[in-house]
Amino acid sequence: MTFRSHVPLAQYTTFRIGGKASLFAEAANAIDLAECYERAAQDNLPVFVFSGGSNVLFSDNGFPGLVVRLIDGGMHVGDNGRISAGAGRSLAELVSSAGEAGLSGLENLAGIPGSVGGAVRGNAGAFGTEIGDRVLSVKAFHIESGMVKEYTRAECGFEYRDSFFKQHPKYIVLSAEFRLTPSADPERLFEKAQEIRDLREEKHPQDVFSAGSFFMNPIVRDEKLRDEFRKDSGKEPKDDKLPAGWLIDQVGLRGKTIGHAKVSEAHPNYLINTGGATAEDVLTLASIVKQKVRDEVGVMLTQEVQLVGFGKA
Ligand SMILES: Cc1cc2nc3c(=O)[nH]c(=O)nc-3n(C[C@H](O)[C@H](O)[C@H](O)COP(=O)(O)OP(=O)(O)OC[C@H]3O[C@@H](n4cnc5c(N)ncnc54)[C@H](O)[C@@H]3O)c2cc1C
Repeated sequence: MTFRSHVPLAQYTTFRIGGKASLFAEAANAIDLAECYERAAQDNLPVFVFSGGSNVLFSDNGFPGLVVRLIDGGMHVGDNGRISAGAGRSLAELVSSAGEAGLSGLENLAGIPGSVGGAVRGNAGAFGTEIGDRVLSVKAFHIESGMVKEYTRAECGFEYRDSFFKQHPKYIVLSAEFRLTPSADPERLFEKAQEIRDLREEKHPQDVFSAGSFFMNPIVRDEKLRDEFRKDSGKEPKDDKLPAGWLIDQVGLRGKTIGHAKVSEAHPNYLINTGGATAEDVLTLASIVKQKVRDEVGVMLTQEVQLVGFGKA
C-alpha cells in the first residue's frame, strides 16, 4: 500500500473544501484496512475512513492523522435477485448493474452520489426508497480486533439516515448484499433510473459543490406548523417530518450567503460552495440557519453531513 503525506482533501469531496491529511491511503479490502490501522498505531495517529466524499465537510486545517479512502470492491450478480457490491463501489454502478441484470428495487436511488458503503452507513434514500429496504446482509470490519463480521438486515438497525454502522463508527462497511426483484425489463429499469435522475435535476441542481441536504428532515409535532406546510405545499408531512428546506425557507434564509457559502436558491437545504468557500464559511452559515430555525419556528435541526477534523470527528 502507498501512504502519502500532506494530501489535500478537497479534491475527494463534492463540497471541494478541506485542508490536508497528514497521511493518506486508499484501501480496497479488509487486508488493506488492517494495514492502515497498523500503520496509524505505529505513528500514533487517529484514522478517518470515508469513500465518495459526498457527505463530509473536512475542516480547513484538514485532518491530523491518517485519512483512508475506500475504493473499488467487487460486484457480483447472484441467483434469486441477489446482488453484492464492495463498499468502495459507487452507488451509481450498483444501480446500473442491477438494472442491466433486470433486477428492480434500487432505481429510485439513481443519481445519489457516493459509495455503496457510505449509502449503507447513512441509509441513503430518495423518492420513498431507502437502501436499507433492500439489504440482505452487510460485512463489516471491526477496527480494534481486525475481525470481519456479517450482519443481517435486522442487525443493521436501519432508520431514517441512520444505521448500526453510523452509531458504531468502529465498524467499517466492507460490502453489502441486496435482494432485488428479478425478471424486470432492463430497458424499462434504465428508463426509470433516467426519469429519477431528470427529476432530481429539476428539483435541485446536482452539479453544484455541496454535500446534498445539509440537515436531516426533523420530526415536527407542532400542528400549526404542519398545517402551514400542508397549505403552502399541498402535501402531507411524511412520517411526522417536515422538510428542513421548507423550514429554512420559512425563516427567510433562501440565498443567505456567508463568504463563499450560500443557502441554495433552488433547494434551501443545500448549502453550496459558490467557489472558494472555506469550511468556516459553511459552518458559520449552518449555525445561522440552525439558530434562526430554532428561534423563529422552534425546531432544532441536526446536520446530516459528517464534520471531520473540527476537534470532535
Ligand atoms: C448533490 C448531492 C445529492 C445528494 N442526494 C442525496 C439523496 O437524495 N439521499 C441521500 O440519502 N443522500 C444524498 N446525498 C448525500 C450523500 O450522497 C450520501 O449520504 C452518500 O450515501 C454518502 O456516501 P459517500 O460514500 O460519499 O460517503 P462519504 O462522504 O465518503 O462519508 C460519509 C460518512 O460515511 C462514513 N463512511 C463512508 N464509507 C463508509 C464505510 N464503508 N463504512 C463505514 N462508514 C463509512 C464516513 O466515515 C463519513 O462519516 C447527496 C449528496 C450530494 C452531493
